[in-house]
Amino acid sequence: MQLVMALDQGTTSSRCILFNHEGKIVSSAAKEYTQYYPKPGQVEHDPMEIWSSQLAVAVEAMAKIGANAADIATIGITNQRETTICWNKKTGLPVCNAIVWQCRRTADRIEALLADNPGIGERIREKTGLIPDAYFSASKLEWILDHVSGARELAEQGDLLFGTVDCWLIWKLTGGRVHMTDYTNASRTMLYNIHDLCWDKELLELFHIPASVLPEVKPSSYNYGTTDPNLFGSAITIGGAAGDQQAALFGQCCFESGDVKNTYGTGCFLLMNTGAEAKLSKNGLLTSIAASIGDHVNYALEGSVFVAGAAIQWLRDEMHLIANAAETETLANSVEDTAGVYVVPAFTGLGAPYWDPYARGTVVGITRGCKREHFVRATLESIAYQTQKVIAAMEQDAGTKLATLKVDGGASANNFLMQFQADIIGAEVVRPTCIETTALGAAYLAGLSVGYWSDLEQIKANWSMGERLSPKMTEAARLEKLEGFRKAVEAARTFK
Ligand code: ADP
Repeated sequence: MQLVMALDQGTTSSRCILFNHEGKIVSSAAKEYTQYYPKPGQVEHDPMEIWSSQLAVAVEAMAKIGANAADIATIGITNQRETTICWNKKTGLPVCNAIVWQCRRTADRIEALLADNPGIGERIREKTGLIPDAYFSASKLEWILDHVSGARELAEQGDLLFGTVDCWLIWKLTGGRVHMTDYTNASRTMLYNIHDLCWDKELLELFHIPASVLPEVKPSSYNYGTTDPNLFGSAITIGGAAGDQQAALFGQCCFESGDVKNTYGTGCFLLMNTGAEAKLSKNGLLTSIAASIGDHVNYALEGSVFVAGAAIQWLRDEMHLIANAAETETLANSVEDTAGVYVVPAFTGLGAPYWDPYARGTVVGITRGCKREHFVRATLESIAYQTQKVIAAMEQDAGTKLATLKVDGGASANNFLMQFQADIIGAEVVRPTCIETTALGAAYLAGLSVGYWSDLEQIKANWSMGERLSPKMTEAARLEKLEGFRKAVEAARTFK
C-alpha cells in the first residue's frame, strides 16, 4: 500500500511524516535549522538550508522504512506562513535570506504607510482580510526590492521570483519548472484580494511590487507538478499545499462552517471555518482563505495568542521553576487553585483581540502563601484564559456559541490545561489521537487531489478521538475567574 508524504516546513524545524490510508504515522524525521537574528527584532532563515533540511528529512523518513519513490502516492506541503523569499529565476539562487514572519524590520514602514494614506488601512482590511502589519509578506517583499543590491533591476528584467515557503519548495522540488503558491498562503501576503481571488493591483502599486515576481495561485488540493526525478529516484506528484494553520484546520476535519480548532504550540492559533462567506471581524480577528477542495473557496476567521507554550518554556528556561514542560501538569494538579494569582504572559504585547504591542508580562494577586505550584498553575491557566478571549471574539463575529473545541499542538497533551480550557469556555474540548494535524492536513489535501482518498467522508472516518473533556466548573466560578483575568490584563496594559 502506498503512503502519502507530508512536508511540514516549520519556523524552527523541517519535518517529514509519511501517512498511510488510515491517516496513521508510518515514518517521520525532523531537523532543526539555523535562526539568524541580524538585529534586535529581526529574524531570518537561509532559504537553501530550508530546502536542504526539508529534502534531507524527506529522504530520511523514506529510508527509515525502506520506501522508494514508487511507495509515495503524492507529496503535500505545509509551511510557516508569510515568510518571504526572493530568488533569481536563472541561477535558482536566493538573492538574500528569507525574512521570517516574526521579523519586525518593516514595522516603521507600515506605520508610515498608514499615516500617509488615509483610509488605506480599512481598504487593506476589506481586500485582504488582514490587519495591516509588518508580519505579512507585502512590506517584507518591498524591503527586499528596495534594500538588496540588484534585486529591483532583476525584477524589472523579469528574472526575480518571489514566494512564500511553500512556493519556494514547489519550485525547488520541480527542478525550477513550477512557480506556484496556494490560496491559503497567498491570503497571508497582504497583496492578495481574497474575494476576487487575484493579486490586488492597488496593493501591488502601494508596495511597489512588479507583478512579474508573483507566483500563480492555485487551490490547496491541486496537482502542482512532479518532482525532479533525480531527487527521489523517480518523479512524485506534488498534490497539495497549504499554510500551517489552514492545514491544521483541514487535518482536524473542520470542513463545515462553524467548525473550530485551536493549536497549542509556541503561541495559540484559533481558526474557525466560515464556509463560503468571508466574514470580516469586528473584534480584532483576521479573515483568511481556508484550505478546501474543488473549485470553491472556503474562508476562516483567525485569532492568535502570541505566547502560549512559550510561557511554559519561560518557566523552564528563565524562571527555572520546572525541569520539563510535562511536569507542569502534576504541579498544577497538586494544588486546589492558584491562590488568587493570575499570570499574563504578554512578553511581546498582546495579540487578538487586544492588539496591544505595548502590554507587558504581569503577575498579580501574590500573597505570602503563593508557592511554585500556584505560579505554575497560573501560567498554564493563562493559556486557557487567552484562548477564551479569542473564542469570545469569534463567537461574537459568528453570532453562534461554540459547542466543541478541537485541539492539537504540543501543549494540548497537557490534560490539566485541556480540562481547565473546557471549564473556562464552558464547552467541550476534544483532542484527536493524532495531534500532528498540520502534516496530516497537508497529506489529506494532496491525497485527495490524486485520488488516494476519494472524498471527505473517507477522511472523516480516519479522525479518531483521543480525549474528550467536558466542562465541570460552576458558572459562578467561571465568571469569577474570568473577571480576575480581565483585571490582570488591565494591569498588564496599564503598566507601561
Ligand atoms: P511549535 O510547533 O510552535 O514549535 P509544538 O506544537 O511542538 O510547538 O509545541 C511545543 C510547545 O508546547 C512548547 O512551547 C512547550 O513549552 C509546550 N508544551 C509541550 N508539552 C507540554 C505540556 N505537557 N504541557 C504544557 N506545555 C507543553
